[in-house]
Amino acid sequence: MTADGIDEHFLGTDAGEHAYRAATEHAVEAAVEATDTDDPFDGVEPDAVREALPDDVLPASGVGLDAAIDEVSTDVLAHTVNASHPRTAAHLHCPPMVSGLAAETMLSATNQSLDSYDQSGAATVVEERLIEALGDLFGLDEGTDGVVTSGGTQSNFQALLLARDRYCRERFDHDVQRDGLPPEADDLRIVCSAEAHFTAEQSAHHLGLGHNAVSTVETDDDHRMDVDALDATLERLDAAGKHVFAVVGTAGTTDFGAIDPLDALADHAADHDAWFHVDAAFGGALALTDDADRLGGLSRADSVSVDFHKLFFQPISCGALLVDDRADFGYAARNDDYLNPADSALPNLVWKSTQTTRRFDALKPYLAFRALGRDGFETIVKTVLTTANRAAALLDSAPDFELLAEPSLNTVLFRYEPRELDDDELDALNTAAREALFRDGRAVIARTEVDGVEALKLTLMNPRTTLNDVAETLDALRDVAEDVDVGTLTA
Ligand SMILES: *Cc1c(COP(=O)(O)O)cnc(C)c1O
Repeated sequence: MTADGIDEHFLGTDAGEHAYRAATEHAVEAAVEATDTDDPFDGVEPDAVREALPDDVLPASGVGLDAAIDEVSTDVLAHTVNASHPRTAAHLHCPPMVSGLAAETMLSATNQSLDSYDQSGAATVVEERLIEALGDLFGLDEGTDGVVTSGGTQSNFQALLLARDRYCRERFDHDVQRDGLPPEADDLRIVCSAEAHFTAEQSAHHLGLGHNAVSTVETDDDHRMDVDALDATLERLDAAGKHVFAVVGTAGTTDFGAIDPLDALADHAADHDAWFHVDAAFGGALALTDDADRLGGLSRADSVSVDFHKLFFQPISCGALLVDDRADFGYAARNDDYLNPADSALPNLVWKSTQTTRRFDALKPYLAFRALGRDGFETIVKTVLTTANRAAALLDSAPDFELLAEPSLNTVLFRYEPRELDDDELDALNTAAREALFRDGRAVIARTEVDGVEALKLTLMNPRTTLNDVAETLDALRDVAEDVDVGTLTA
């Protein structure tokens, strides 16, 4: 490539702007095509994808941008799972809102980095304002602060990091940031429900405490943490000389959408001088609706995880961690001369983040909030909750399906039971039928386990999904299940 060939690859010149507009338009067409499909998935096998992709990812000379976009369109996008399809209903995987796609265009083209003000300017202030708005939405106090994260995993990890380090400072006068784990580390405990997200255990591992540092509490019939069982667990841990540094409540468990009794958990955490973290990655969006009171007790949290790439319908990745007392971020903060010198008067967000270079993801919820307002969001969130209730009623009335739980949010758990079979056979049939449906591609649904049996799950994330789409999904499942030979599966 000659020096004259450089301009077209960068913004800021006529040649670059022309190329950017053309490439973006081309890319938009490819994306529109990939998200307007008859079925959510074409069932492609990984080996077929491997075959179809060019051998040479880094050829000696490139094919040019237009040809490369065309290749990606046919070899890749055509074989992805269409997250915007009304019969894509497996995971907490949302159809992204148009406002979020527009925000992605702006935030990636301007390429701001939220670690320092001298790489972001106004973008830093937008993130600050978004965090303030979230604090207000969740009813947290004045001194609340927060940071945008890659999602619930990062938010939960950071919350438990701060929780551990504050506890060790206050209880053992020990500075983990400087000196590492204290001698009491083996006895540190995190308490959460048995339905809490796996990232509680994963965080315990990453924090050097190990999975065994997590004590899980049984849930009640509605899959919420059982408060009597919490009492018993805390008593047992106290008697064994353990140090409970965090109580984690879940507002929206992944399978059931169950919301723990947050007020009672807040009381128990306070009695133990433990940090109260609420994982609201899934259920936090209820705060946008007239069902916000179901999150009662959330405002008493020391920290809250929320995901915008779930029920706030923003493109991946986009989450936040809120911390009730800004000073708590200090347990993991540091200053570096080149990035955020202690004597600078300008704001920097890097002191609150576990990342350094960080995307301007705050723009996505910011733009959506401004564009749709609370009303716009409430309509969308309520729509998916209503669809889940209708889907549950449909399953309940179908003779060949068993509804396993009434929906709490927008997940629906069920089992296919077309005829008299024993439990092992039903497990095998449900697993195989779900797998076959994925390969068939007419619908994408999830599997999980409920009370020791194989269950199927709809996570109805698309406000455009109708009851008819749900009915078609069930018909497709019946259809593919006909070819499943339960005899050979359980033999
Ligand atoms: C999705 C989810 C997580 C993990 O968040 P990511 O955004 O996938 O990192 C954690 N907790 C709960 C309750 C979730 O729903």
